[in-house]
Amino acid sequence: MMQKIVAATGNAGKIREFKELLEPLGFEIIPIKDLGITLEDPEDAGTFLGNCRIKAREGSRKTGLPVIADDSGLCVDALDGAPGVYSARYAGEDGNSEANIKKLLEELKDVPWEKRTARFVCQMILMYPNGTEILSRGTCEGHIAFEKRGEGGFGYDPVMLTARNFSFAELGEQKKNLISHRGRASRKLAFKLRHITKGRFHDYFKTESRA
Ligand code: IMP
Repeated sequence: MMQKIVAATGNAGKIREFKELLEPLGFEIIPIKDLGITLEDPEDAGTFLGNCRIKAREGSRKTGLPVIADDSGLCVDALDGAPGVYSARYAGEDGNSEANIKKLLEELKDVPWEKRTARFVCQMILMYPNGTEILSRGTCEGHIAFEKRGEGGFGYDPVMLTARNFSFAELGEQKKNLISHRGRASRKLAFKLRHITKGRFHDYFKTESRA
């Protein structure tokens, strides 16, 4: 029997990625909203790890099942790591990428190329009802462009440039997944799962603790 894992996100792209990652390992991914559950706890921990823990804990409490969650964002060195955990609502309104990018370019308008370094960060967590956590973090380094480029991707992709000077919005989904923070965090999580359980996953997590 496949073990169920609840995905604590309403983002269809993330659910697709979780399925691609975990179904080959023998898990069934269930979007939390398919169970009629909405996440309501405020994501106010102030760190990526804290925020994804809040989502996973609430999901696990409400479903009694293992839960996978992530939290991600863009950290710009010249802005002391901002927008960071506030990436989605940097310009105020949640998820308005157009306004977020405009604000970011405005804040950086006098910052020269060599100081426009930044990274995408993705923190992932797989949490079990007994409190066991498997964590993984992926980062992806780049530079913030002076103007938008490319039509693909989402969020800050049009202004984040790779070392080869493509914007993330010019890469296409497959290439982006190979180098992205989320792709890296996903592969690390899959690696840890395989490694930890050595194929005996179901037995392993039946116990109350690792001891
Ligand atoms: P969350 O992890 O869904 O809360 O995402 C937070 C925000 O970070 C998103 O709304 C985007 O603004 C930004 N972000 C996260 N990952 C990416 C990415 O791969 N490309 C562009 N922006 C991203």
